[in-house]
Amino acid sequence: MADTSRALRHLPSVDKLVDALAAHLARSTGEAPIPRALLVEFARAELQEARRRVGDAGPGAGDERERALLAWIEAGGPLAGALARLTRERGAGLLRAINVSGVVLNTGLGRAPWHPEAVRAAAEVAGGYAVVEVDRWSGERNQRDERVSELLTRLLPCEAALAVNNCAAAVLLALQSLSGGRETLVSRGELVEIGGSFRMPAVMERAGVQLVEVGTTNRTRIGDFEAALGPKSALLLKVHPSNFRIRGFAEEASPKEMAELARQHGLFSAYDLGSGRVDVEGAASLDFLGDEPDLHGALQSGVDVVMFSGDKLLGGPQAGLVVGRAEVVAKLRKNPLYRALRLDKTILAGLERTLELLLAGRADELPARALLQRAAAEIEALARRIAEALSRVPGLEALVLPERSQPGSGSAPDVYLDTFVVALAAQGRSPSRLAAELRALPTPVFARVHEGRVLLDPRTLLAGEEEQLLELLRAHPWTGTGPRP
Ligand SMILES: *Cc1c(COP(=O)(O)O)cnc(C)c1O
Repeated sequence: MADTSRALRHLPSVDKLVDALAAHLARSTGEAPIPRALLVEFARAELQEARRRVGDAGPGAGDERERALLAWIEAGGPLAGALARLTRERGAGLLRAINVSGVVLNTGLGRAPWHPEAVRAAAEVAGGYAVVEVDRWSGERNQRDERVSELLTRLLPCEAALAVNNCAAAVLLALQSLSGGRETLVSRGELVEIGGSFRMPAVMERAGVQLVEVGTTNRTRIGDFEAALGPKSALLLKVHPSNFRIRGFAEEASPKEMAELARQHGLFSAYDLGSGRVDVEGAASLDFLGDEPDLHGALQSGVDVVMFSGDKLLGGPQAGLVVGRAEVVAKLRKNPLYRALRLDKTILAGLERTLELLLAGRADELPARALLQRAAAEIEALARRIAEALSRVPGLEALVLPERSQPGSGSAPDVYLDTFVVALAAQGRSPSRLAAELRALPTPVFARVHEGRVLLDPRTLLAGEEEQLLELLRAHPWTGTGPRP
């Protein structure tokens, strides 16, 4: 024990560590503020960790171990540890990231990036007062999503629209409003789970909706719906399975058949479309998305309402949009849940601008749509430039390979887009270690790990990010073992 106390005596005090951390902070400006109490916490935690290490090396520990500990303390180990805690704190939370996963609608990375004009519109209203829920001409209170509704009725063959937090909220609101306490009929093959544990049966249960499963997993005909109708039936729901396809001996009732059956029996019909593909005039065709259904077709089928996300193929902020017949949309709006699910002013501003861009024939400018359409040749040129630059970084090896990327977010699961990637390897690092180190860079970089390789897919690099990516990778020490993330 006498030996270990020698090491303990060399540990810096809490105050000394806190002062060093504060001095480090003072050198950088413009980052998130950090309270002093947190610095004290970091210093204490690091010293406790050091004491634990000294303790571990206690009775019976060899001289060599003791010397190593002393050397670690003298080399500023505790301060480095406390600084690492500070770095982790400053790198926590919602930060801008570089997406080189190639997945355009990457849910983990926030799906569709906004158009710069949508960003400006949101920033403008964030820092001040805004015309959110009042009609500026009459001075009277109105609905905050009135403008969104107006724009959607111009864009799509629908009478009215409303906007809530996300598509899951839109589905919840529709189910609760149209069949709360009564029955919703859904095809068994469409009782889907969407990423993030959005399970249709669970949502129905919470919405107070009784679920009637119709047909079999692979085959549901409209006759099966007709046979399942009863006195408590209220809603026929069509769900786009999004993230999977049933192939082969399969059949489903079409939205048109379901809308007609509902109408004949005085029931409601709704279509959870999810990804919200919209083909607009003046924009490149989205035919490369294959059989991914689109909003015009969904509405023309005659269903009462269609629900979709704002941040998937539409290319705007996170939102859940309901479009369809005016009286049915009004019914959803009257539900008290609508108030609980409503959107914030910044999102509404971004959404309005996104819809205005779609209406102005500028759809191809929306980043998500542009990235999905990015030509393989353009991606290859990017990949070659990046690979060439990275090959010159000591410790890195980079190679260009042809690959395929997916749209993401469960949109068009069958669709593979031709792309080119930079396969990256770093000295002495496993692929998962390398990927973790990329995520730990000052601006996190998210690559794809596929078949034991780290792949950088430049399809999802936005304007200005190529240089930033190279700078981040050049500034990192790849030779030696590097800092453990
Ligand atoms: C994505 C999706 C949802 C959930 O949408 P969020 O906007 O993520 O809430 C619901 N239904 C379908 C069919 C989807 O594809």
